[in-house]
Amino acid sequence: MNLDLIAIGDELLIGQTLNTNVYWMSKELNHIGFNIRQQITISDSEEAILDAVEAALSKSDVVLITGGLGSTNDDLTMPTLNKYFGGELVKDEAVYEHIEEMVTSRGFEMNENNQKQAIVPNNCKVVHNAHGTAPGLWFEQDNKIVVAMPGVPYEMKGMLSDIVIPWLKERYELPEIINQMVYTQGVPEAKLAEVLADWEKNLPSTIKLAYLPSPGRVKLRLSSVGTNRKALQGDIDLEVEKLNQLIPTHIYSEETEDLGSAVGELLRKNNATLATAESCTGGYIAHLITRVVGSSDYYKGSVVSYANEIKMKKLNVNQEDIENHGAVSQQVVEQMALGVQQKMNTDYAVATSGIAGPDGGTDQKPVGTVWIAVATPAGVKSKKYLFGKQREVNIERAAITGLGMLRKEL
Ligand code: AMP
Ligand code: MG
Repeated sequence: MNLDLIAIGDELLIGQTLNTNVYWMSKELNHIGFNIRQQITISDSEEAILDAVEAALSKSDVVLITGGLGSTNDDLTMPTLNKYFGGELVKDEAVYEHIEEMVTSRGFEMNENNQKQAIVPNNCKVVHNAHGTAPGLWFEQDNKIVVAMPGVPYEMKGMLSDIVIPWLKERYELPEIINQMVYTQGVPEAKLAEVLADWEKNLPSTIKLAYLPSPGRVKLRLSSVGTNRKALQGDIDLEVEKLNQLIPTHIYSEETEDLGSAVGELLRKNNATLATAESCTGGYIAHLITRVVGSSDYYKGSVVSYANEIKMKKLNVNQEDIENHGAVSQQVVEQMALGVQQKMNTDYAVATSGIAGPDGGTDQKPVGTVWIAVATPAGVKSKKYLFGKQREVNIERAAITGLGMLRKEL
């Protein structure tokens, strides 16, 4: 079953609002077995809406629309769909009552705009909006379905999950779709593809493979479509098992992209504690660790030792080493890790010191140079990396790489 998504809103086209609706909807709808044929974003204009709906209906079975359902003059989705499907606009008493209840319960009085929202096309099913006033509209024509939903994300989500998806499932017999993720860290995409070339060549034709890189990590997605979920999952499990034999140390999870939580699980399993000393990552590693529920069981804290003075005073880094080797050096980063490990009395510690950029680079230490150290009960290990030129990316890459080094020790 092919499905098209249309997001309507000028604010999306000028980069003012991030189109999170289409991202979320795609995930939900693919999960229940639809093939998302395309996603398009268009302006709040009658012409654009008519063109988009016509084009989508010529190729897909289902078209889901978000946005432009408000009651103000800039919202054109409802009258335009009414025009397209040749209906008439009539007052819907149930919708009116719902709007009245919402408006008055918030202490307001019904105004003209509120009343207008109860006027809907007479040739569609109304989709109840439990979280707002704009009703959703479900049209059917020539065995195809068009549903318009509000743009406000929580209103759309409620409507899609609670009503539209159940209705679609009743209507269509949808195939099973499996998207199995395997999360890897520490090997660049091109290298990973080289290592996995033979395995990839021998994948059954029913399984599709995708490489999805992000700073410091590569996600592998194995997907397949069919009717028997158990059989599909069985085939995929077999391939994941082969992957686990090929790249055992690079895989950190098959469930979550969150490296902080994967590392946290290892710490918990080892009954071990962690502290961090962060210079160039400025607390980002601490954030990745502490955003995981229950991290207080293994994480003690961080010293964001941005200034040399703090590296010396709080972490016992030797002043001479800073003077002789610079703050971005093996000597300093190792002392940072050992210093915080000792001060906070933990089993493990991670430390970073680098030049995130865009300024501050030299010929010997260009922007992107980062030293990372991991202190363990057995000693300290460190490594120098040369990342890129972009500050944000360097910070993320350094944090992810630090967690990756810790993961390997654990
Ligand atoms: P509308 O239904 O067009 O009146 O949209 C109401 C509000 O929902 C807008 O102000 C946006 O903030 C938000 N919105 C609309 N479309 C989207 C979208 N595709 N993704 C995320 N937010 C959206
Ligand atoms: Mg709008």
